[in-house]
Amino acid sequence: MPLTLRTIACLNDNYAYLLHDEESGATACIDVPEIEPLERALSDEGWSLTEIWVTHHHDDHIQGVDALRASTSAKVVGAKADAHRLPKLDDAVSDGDIFNFAGHDVQVMDVSGHTIGHIAFYVPAANAAFTADSLMTMGCGRLFEGDARTMWVSLQKLASLPSETLICSGHEYTEANIRFAMSVDSDNPALLKRAEHVAALRAKGAFTVPSLLSEELETNPFLRATNANLAAKLGMAGADPADVFAEIRGLKDRF
Ligand code: ZN
Ligand code: FE
Repeated sequence: MPLTLRTIACLNDNYAYLLHDEESGATACIDVPEIEPLERALSDEGWSLTEIWVTHHHDDHIQGVDALRASTSAKVVGAKADAHRLPKLDDAVSDGDIFNFAGHDVQVMDVSGHTIGHIAFYVPAANAAFTADSLMTMGCGRLFEGDARTMWVSLQKLASLPSETLICSGHEYTEANIRFAMSVDSDNPALLKRAEHVAALRAKGAFTVPSLLSEELETNPFLRATNANLAAKLGMAGADPADVFAEIRGLKDRF
């Protein structure tokens, strides 16, 4: 029986996700920016929350965890390395761990860069990776704690997942990300097409998450640091992709 995924808009531009297993009734929530939209979605669906998975310590991802735990008695799963600055964890997990969610594997990936200790949850049975502020639709998180090389290693791990993986990221930043992408990669035909598609989605108020990893590989400039044309345009032909990534991240910070 397939897992059901719901994307929940929270706060101004955050996203949380619900993942539900019909057969067992188990439901996981990934990140808790605030509780009202999540409680509403749970009651609309008739689902009871059994687990909360947190990606990283920033308030806009965890500030509702304690209240949601109190109202649902869900268990909380998060990074062992970050336990000192996360809500109390029932299960502390580390890079490479595989835990069980209603009979389905969940793979824990360290994707540090935005923060040190940021993790992603990859659920092959749902074709989904919950990446929050690491790999995002058309972008990646700002480097608050890690350096460019650390983020590049994290993005490479995510880039090696199956290309049909849904990238379930943490924010609706896509239009701004596209504007930046156009400034560095405007002769990429896939980017031009995607810019039109995103504009159409946003015009009707639709979400641009989750996105497909295959689309990110073609159009997300932060994953295209390996692309020879893009490197050449930045005056970095033949450079180490990690250095090209660092240059692109720096340009975005100043954009
Ligand atoms: Zn964050
Ligand atoms: Fe965030």
